[in-house]
Amino acid sequence: MEIKLRKADPDQLKIPPETMSGVVFGTQFTDHMFCMEWEDGKGWHNAEIKPYGPLLMEPSAMVLHYAQMAFEGLKAYQTDSGEHVLFRPRENFKRMNRTAQRMCLPELDIEEVLAALKQLLCLDSGWVPHESGTSLYIRPTIVATEEAIGLKVSSKYLFFIIMSPVGPYYSQGFYPVKIMVTDKYVRAVPGGVGYAKTGGNYAASILAEKEAKEMGYTQVLWLDAVERRYIEEVGAMNIFFVINGELVTPQLTGSILPGITRMSVLELGKHWGLKVAERRISIDEVLTGIKDGSVTEVFGAGTAAVISPVGVLSYKGDECQVGNGKTGSLATRFYEHLTGIQYGKEADPFGWVEPF
Ligand SMILES: *Cc1c(COP(=O)(O)O)cnc(C)c1O
Repeated sequence: MEIKLRKADPDQLKIPPETMSGVVFGTQFTDHMFCMEWEDGKGWHNAEIKPYGPLLMEPSAMVLHYAQMAFEGLKAYQTDSGEHVLFRPRENFKRMNRTAQRMCLPELDIEEVLAALKQLLCLDSGWVPHESGTSLYIRPTIVATEEAIGLKVSSKYLFFIIMSPVGPYYSQGFYPVKIMVTDKYVRAVPGGVGYAKTGGNYAASILAEKEAKEMGYTQVLWLDAVERRYIEEVGAMNIFFVINGELVTPQLTGSILPGITRMSVLELGKHWGLKVAERRISIDEVLTGIKDGSVTEVFGAGTAAVISPVGVLSYKGDECQVGNGKTGSLATRFYEHLTGIQYGKEADPFGWVEPF
């Protein structure tokens, strides 16, 4: 793939924030972006790295009406020795292709887009923040751009990658959050698009998240759509429980997003010799277990926070405190180890980090 390079004029270049404290997640973007187009009969073409800026599309562009799209989220890190690395980036593009299949989008050549991403990263490497716990968030996206409002598979697409420097998720230390189990709304149904990282899933979740926030909870824990009984996941994180010393997470049934952090926690847990299970977990099992002490930890896992300990679960108006409400030892161990690999403080026996 040939990539055209159009650099921003020196007087167009922005100045990366000097410190990431106070920078709101996802509000600042680097100087450049990668774009390429797809058309029936032509495939992917017009690959270009160009100055970050508005996209030109008609109001009839199909994605604006029917949300035929896919996105991804991954991060670039500066290690303690000053090296720049990505964390399991091929897994993100593999997942993007699985989303693409479900949403009838054209698939990507994983090695080609990874090479394009690395070229973009090298050009904007001055934007990878260096303070502890910071990173450069990367957002690859595919949208349907055919100018037509009839519902069908689009014949034209745009793929782009934009990048945003982000501060440490935990600025006041690694603290547990309060989450609300909803039995009023559901996120995804069997046969639907729950496993796809596609816009509609998130649009549909905003109301539940808003109501939970108004009641003092940071996120919603979703139950299965059929029985409203089995645990699925949290907002943009998968969820783990420590039950009688065993690490347990809901199995992937098609309505849960298959997180790369989830996969990494499972692999690391097995590597450490922990007992690990992927299975159905009912909300009753969790609440009973918290009360009788067999559930000792609950934590979320996702790229943004890496690990997010849960201190309180609220269900049908009752609050239930997990253990003593403090961060558990396994949550801490996973957090320290995963961030340790990402920032080059820990050995990387699995080859998860990739320099650029
Ligand atoms: C992205 C996402 C996750 C976490 O996936 P990671 O690859 O670990 O970042 C979990 N659930 C939902 C709904 C998501 O969108």
